[in-house]
Amino acid sequence: MKTIGLLGGMSWESTLDYYKLINQQVSKTLGGFHSAKIVMISVDFALLEENMSKGNWSTCAQILAAAGQKIEKAGADCLLICTNTLHKVAPEVEKAITIPLLHIADAAGKTLVEQDISVIGLLGTRFTMEEDFYRQRLAEKFGLEVFVPPAEERKIIDDIIFKELCMGKIDANSRQEYLRIMEALKYRGAEAILLGCTEIAMLVDKQHTDIPLFDTTAIHAATAVKFGIGV
Ligand code: GLU
Repeated sequence: MKTIGLLGGMSWESTLDYYKLINQQVSKTLGGFHSAKIVMISVDFALLEENMSKGNWSTCAQILAAAGQKIEKAGADCLLICTNTLHKVAPEVEKAITIPLLHIADAAGKTLVEQDISVIGLLGTRFTMEEDFYRQRLAEKFGLEVFVPPAEERKIIDDIIFKELCMGKIDANSRQEYLRIMEALKYRGAEAILLGCTEIAMLVDKQHTDIPLFDTTAIHAATAVKFGIGV
């Protein structure tokens, strides 16, 4: 079994899900007392959030690259950055390490293509919904057409992520807002919704809607398991 490197804490709420999902899948596949071999560093999200908000991406890159190097040194065979948004600095982190970085957008793109999805609605932070690092990768590498909500709704989505979900707060009214925005994306032609933020599945999952949902946390975790145990 290979050792999975997790760069977490962004937020810790969703890193818990990574840890649990990876171990559950390894345990289910291998049986007995098996669990995943994991090296994890969990960063202080406050420092990153502050720098992201100010547009200091090079500081975020430095923090994550240094953590990635420590994870590699501790024996990990691959690295996962356990958040969509901080993949904005994935190229810098990738340059700082020699183990493979399992990119969350690649994991999502591959899964969507395998499921014959070609048009998706993307929900995530304002950075993920608005900037090229994520949407462009999905479009160029996987041929996906990516719809995002209009500006006013992007703000609602982003506010709920940072003011509620990253704090572990689950609010039924916020869930209704997400469902309304997802319906509008479906009406525009989205075949499925990509939950492009690792906390969204805490709020909305398949029991709440008939629209097909693709959760990047679960997809990324499954990619790690495949790397770790080859299935
Ligand atoms: N975890 C979230 C994501 O997947 C948002 C928090 C962050 O900016 O890392 O994008």
